[in-house]
Amino acid sequence: MQTFTTVAETKYIFVTGGVVSSLGKGIVAASLGKLLQARGFRVTIQKFDPYINIDPGTLNPYEHGECYVTIDGRETDLDLGHYERFLNVPTSMANNITTGRIYQNVIDRERRGDFLGKTVQVVPHITDEIKRNIMILGNTGEYDFIITEIGGTVGDIESLPYIESVRQLRWELGKNCLCVHLTYVPFIAAAKEVKTKPTQHSVKTLQEQGILPNILVLRTEEKLSENICHKVALFCNVDENAVIQSYDVPSIYEVPLVLAEQGMDKIVLRKMGMPVKGKLDLTRWKAFLENMKHAKKTVKIGLIGKYVELPDAYKSINESLLQAATYHRRKLDLHFIHSEKVTDENVAELLSSMDGILVAPGFGQRGIEGKFAALKYAREHNKPTFGVCLGMQCMVIEFAQNVLGLKDANSTEMDPETPHKVIDLMEEQKNLTFMGGSMRLGAYDCKLEKDSIAYKAYQNENIRERHRHRYEFNNEYKKLFEANGMKCTGINPATGLVEVVEISGMKWYLGTQYHPEYNSTVVNPNPLFMSFIEAATKN
Ligand code: GLN
Repeated sequence: MQTFTTVAETKYIFVTGGVVSSLGKGIVAASLGKLLQARGFRVTIQKFDPYINIDPGTLNPYEHGECYVTIDGRETDLDLGHYERFLNVPTSMANNITTGRIYQNVIDRERRGDFLGKTVQVVPHITDEIKRNIMILGNTGEYDFIITEIGGTVGDIESLPYIESVRQLRWELGKNCLCVHLTYVPFIAAAKEVKTKPTQHSVKTLQEQGILPNILVLRTEEKLSENICHKVALFCNVDENAVIQSYDVPSIYEVPLVLAEQGMDKIVLRKMGMPVKGKLDLTRWKAFLENMKHAKKTVKIGLIGKYVELPDAYKSINESLLQAATYHRRKLDLHFIHSEKVTDENVAELLSSMDGILVAPGFGQRGIEGKFAALKYAREHNKPTFGVCLGMQCMVIEFAQNVLGLKDANSTEMDPETPHKVIDLMEEQKNLTFMGGSMRLGAYDCKLEKDSIAYKAYQNENIRERHRHRYEFNNEYKKLFEANGMKCTGINPATGLVEVVEISGMKWYLGTQYHPEYNSTVVNPNPLFMSFIEAATKN
C-alpha cells in the first residue's frame, strides 16, 4: 500500500502541444502523472478538447479513434483510456470537456438570464467557464496534482480560448501552476540533421499568446545531442535542464522511464517550490516491462472489425490484449482482419493459424456478414473466441442461425424486419430521437453464474463493467439458447439484461454485452482478457 503525501494546495500542470498532432501528448501527460503518483502524490489527468461536438460519442472512429467510456457513463476521448491504464485510477465525466460543452453551458445560462443583460463574450464568459471546469476536480480536495491536457495544437484558431484560460490561471495560481509544451524535432534525411526550427516557432506562438512554457518535451525519433537541447533552451527561454526529450521507445509504457531518467518529476517539483523527497516507486511498472522484454513465445490473436486500417479505433482492446499477453509472458502478435473481407470461403485461411479470435464492437450493417463467418468457423473449430459488445451480439445471431436453425435471425439494428429478433432494441431506447449521449452508458452491476468461464476469470460473483450500446439479448429466446448450449452466465440483477453468454464445453467461447477493455490497466489487467489469453496460449 502506498502512503500518500498530501500537499496543502492543489497543483495544476498544463500540457500543450505544438508543430503537429499525434505526438503523444496524452502519453506524456499520463507518464508524468505516473511519475508523480509513484512519488506518492494523488494525481488525476483531464483533457480539454477544442472541437464543437458535446462529446466524441457521435464521432466516427475515423475522426478521433476509439470512444472511451467512463464509469459514470460519459463518452470521452481515447486519451482518458491512457490515463486510466497508466494511473490505475478511474476517470469521470469531469475529466473530459469539449468546446461544445463549454458553449452549451454558457448559452444555457444566457437563456436563463444569468448574465443580467451583459453582452456574453469569449473573454471573459467562455474563458471563465473553461477555468471553472479546469478547477472542478482540483476543488474536490481529492488530488494533489491536476494535469490538464489541452487537445489540438498551439496556433489552431479553436485552441485560443483554452490557451487564454491557461494564461489567466497561470497568473492567478502563481507557483501552483506549470506549463509543459510538447513539440516535434524532425530528422531531415536530405540534410542528415535534426531541426529545431519548428519547435522555436511553436514556442514563439505560445509566447505570443502569453504563455512561457516552464518545461519543453521534445518528441524525436532518435536521442538528441546535448547541443540540440542547449540550443532549444537558448532560443525558447527555458532552463536547459527543463528541456526533456521523448525519443521513440518500443512500448508506450516505457515513456515514464524515459522521463524519469531525465528527472522530469524532480524538475516539476522544484519548479513548483515543493520538496523533492522520497523515492520513485515504479516496482510493479518495471516488473511489467521486464515481462514484456523477456517474453519469447508469442500469442497470435486475430481481431475482426471494420476499422482495422485504423488501430486507434480499438485502442483499449489492443492494450488489454497486450497487458494480458505480457502477464502470460507472451509477445502479442495481433492481426487486424477486416470483417468486410471475411467469407465462408476464405475464413479458414485467415483464421486457422490464430491462437484466439476477438470479434470487435461496432455499429451498423457493414462488415457484419464477415463477423458471422468468422464466428461460425471459430465455433465449429473450437477456437478460443471473445466477442465484445457487437461481437457478443454476433455470437448470439450466428448461434441462432446455425445451431438453433432460426435461419433469418438477426439484430433489429441490422434487419428491422427479421422474424427472429434475437438481439433487439432495449425498451428505454425505443422512443429516443437524440443520438448523442443516449445509449446505455457506463458501469452496471452484473451477477455471474458460479459455474462459468466468467466466474472462473473474475473469481467473484458480483462485478461491474462499462457499457455502450442500444441493443440487447432478447430474453424471450433465453430458454431456447440455454437448452442448446449457449448459456447466459452474466445477468444484470436489476433489469435482467443478459451481460455474458458462453458455450460450455468449448475451450473458451464467450461474449460480453459490456466492454471489459475499458477496465484493464497495466497493474490491474482485466480478468476476462487474462483468461482469454490464457486459453489462447494453451491452444
Ligand atoms: N451496435 C450495438 C448496439 O448498439 C453494439 C454497440 C457496441 O458494440 N458498442 O447495441
